Amino acid sequence: MSNVRKTIQDLAGYVPGEQPQQGKLIKLNTNENPYPASEAVAAAIETAARNLVRYPDPIATGFRLTAAPILGVDPDWILCGNGSDDILTILTRTFVDAGNSIRLPYPSYTLYRTLAAIQGATAEEVAFNDDWTLPTAFRTGDGQLRLVMLPNPNSPTGTVVSREEILEIADALPCPLVVDEAYADFADFNCIDLVQENEKIIVTRTLSKSYGLAGLRFGFAVAQPQVITQMLKVKDSYNCDSLSLAAATAAISDTNWLAGNVAKIRVTRSRLQAQLAQLGYDVIPSHANFVWCTHSEQPAEQIYEYLKENGILVRYMKYPKWQDGLRISVGSDEQMDACLSLLEKR
Ligand SMILES: *Cc1c(COP(=O)(O)O)cnc(C)c1O
Repeated sequence: MSNVRKTIQDLAGYVPGEQPQQGKLIKLNTNENPYPASEAVAAAIETAARNLVRYPDPIATGFRLTAAPILGVDPDWILCGNGSDDILTILTRTFVDAGNSIRLPYPSYTLYRTLAAIQGATAEEVAFNDDWTLPTAFRTGDGQLRLVMLPNPNSPTGTVVSREEILEIADALPCPLVVDEAYADFADFNCIDLVQENEKIIVTRTLSKSYGLAGLRFGFAVAQPQVITQMLKVKDSYNCDSLSLAAATAAISDTNWLAGNVAKIRVTRSRLQAQLAQLGYDVIPSHANFVWCTHSEQPAEQIYEYLKENGILVRYMKYPKWQDGLRISVGSDEQMDACLSLLEKR
């Protein structure tokens, strides 16, 4: 249709991992949690489901009051969204005009490029150093650079940039640094407290991975209140519904569930990495709930096809300026056994 903005006509559009709606595939392609969420979540949704006459609280007061002491920040440092992808959209619309640019590391989460394109901005990719630190070019920029995205741990590599480096990058940058902590619960550290050190640091979180709630759609940003105030103007009025607010509040309150789940996933992650290495795969040590691996003799795409034919879905990813490989989500021990035994037979 000719009335559509040229930017949109030219856009390929972000393609998320496959979500087959039937069959009994073992799904290891989108980093969902293999275990069911805290029991408290379903109970909270049931209660909330009986009271849907009124609009939800537009500023998620209940969630923020509950989450603030758990996260170690004040409630007015939190903004909630319909998944953290919604938060990333709000950030782009808050800071980036057409013609500006967004920076992201390479290889990384490609949704940022789509968000830049929709905004009519350009996406500038800066390659990681060989040791997964970032080059000086990542922290320099002029007035056109409006937002820098850094998933930490990064996807698809599972690598981390240190807190010290993040502080240095934020200090040097002329614009905000978004630390996308979708996987931080699986790592040894996070950067939420660094938000207090520098107003340019904005941390984003999601309940999709470590809380086992990808189907719920809930994420949030942590930033200084003067930043949150501006972001609030951009978001949809009712971007989180009553059911997700109730569920998210219950989920974040159940800190025991989170600790137990993360501990299990980390043990399984170690085993997956060790066994993949034994099978001759090159594995990057991961701080997230997935593992990136390649094989020097077998093309990744063929391994992906082979696993899929045998009922296991992993993510085949191709980074032209780096390598193509497989990103395998850490599932349950049984799922890992099924995957590893297929790989062994190959
Ligand atoms: C999964 C993921 C998200 C999206 O999380 P949602 O809350 O499900 O939208 C954001 N950033 C990264 C790096 C992710 O891997």
